[in-house]
Amino acid sequence: MANAVRQLDPDAIVQGTGVVAVDNRADAVTVSLSSGESISGDVLIGADGIHSVVRSAVFGAGPAHFTGCMAWRGVIPSSRLPPHIQRDVGTNWVGPGRHVVTYPLRRGELFNFVGVVERTGWETESWTAKGTRDECAADFAGWHPDVHALIDNIDVHYRWALMSRPPMARWSAGRVVLVGDACHPMLPFMAQGAVMAIEDAITLARVLAANRNDFVTAFANYEAERVMRANRCVIAAERNREIFHNERLMEAEDANQYVSAQWNEAKVRERYNWLFAFDAVGGG
Ligand SMILES: Cc1cc2nc3c(=O)[nH]c(=O)nc-3n(C[C@H](O)[C@H](O)[C@H](O)COP(=O)(O)OP(=O)(O)OC[C@H]3O[C@@H](n4cnc5c(N)ncnc54)[C@H](O)[C@@H]3O)c2cc1C
Repeated sequence: MANAVRQLDPDAIVQGTGVVAVDNRADAVTVSLSSGESISGDVLIGADGIHSVVRSAVFGAGPAHFTGCMAWRGVIPSSRLPPHIQRDVGTNWVGPGRHVVTYPLRRGELFNFVGVVERTGWETESWTAKGTRDECAADFAGWHPDVHALIDNIDVHYRWALMSRPPMARWSAGRVVLVGDACHPMLPFMAQGAVMAIEDAITLARVLAANRNDFVTAFANYEAERVMRANRCVIAAERNREIFHNERLMEAEDANQYVSAQWNEAKVRERYNWLFAFDAVGGG
């Protein structure tokens, strides 16, 4: 992506600095950078993630809150895993108060591991930190040997606090507009945060191209297409916490009935069809 952007404009990406302030005026918008420079333009797209400075500057939002869930994350070379785990599918392991998601990356050369655990507090200042293999294994004590085969083969066990903010009704103000986690951070339980950010970007590019001299109309069309859909994802991800972490998964017999009821084809279609039967390029 970086190469594609640089082919259009070699100077478009500036590294080693960051936005510290935003001046959103009627005639132009200006950002001040930590390097001391400032840059002005017609519009500003804030794509700066959950701790968005642009969002705070324009909407005055307070800090994100801890959701009560933390995630273990790690990447594993597939060659280290038993052959039956190296399948070209995503796998979701569910249990009371925690779940694990694994899927292949980079044409199957790597496996991604995300293990989510409910916690009452987040004790480190940083929202990402390194943990240990033993701590990660202890969080999944008694879980299936395949889960432990994955945990054992991770080199660095990262711990992430999962943060959130309430959904927003507006994503633009004056000449500033937000995309991605800056305007709709969500629990990763629909695996849709990055997907929604990409859909936002595709939609925003389309409406700006169609309204070249009228960013007000472009932003209004963008919000009309995107706000409800992304916020529905925020809520669905919250709901998946209850489904994945359900206490009924404690006892094997009840768990079987619960899984059949929650993951039969009709139920899965009901939960996900609205999500996947959508075309951001065509606009709906
Ligand atoms: C455990 C976990 C699992 C996940 N799994 C999935 C998944 O399976 N599928 C999925 O679609 N999503 C998933 N997500 C969500 C996904 O990672 C995010 O939704 C996505 O990265 C958001 O993209 P973004 O571009 O909006 O923000 P970010 O990826 O956070 O990017 C923001 C960028 O802005 C930069 N920045 C920040 N502040 C400034 C500043 N002041 N000035 C300049 N630059 C700045 C940052 O350096 C960063 O490069 C997961 C998230 C977590 C935590």
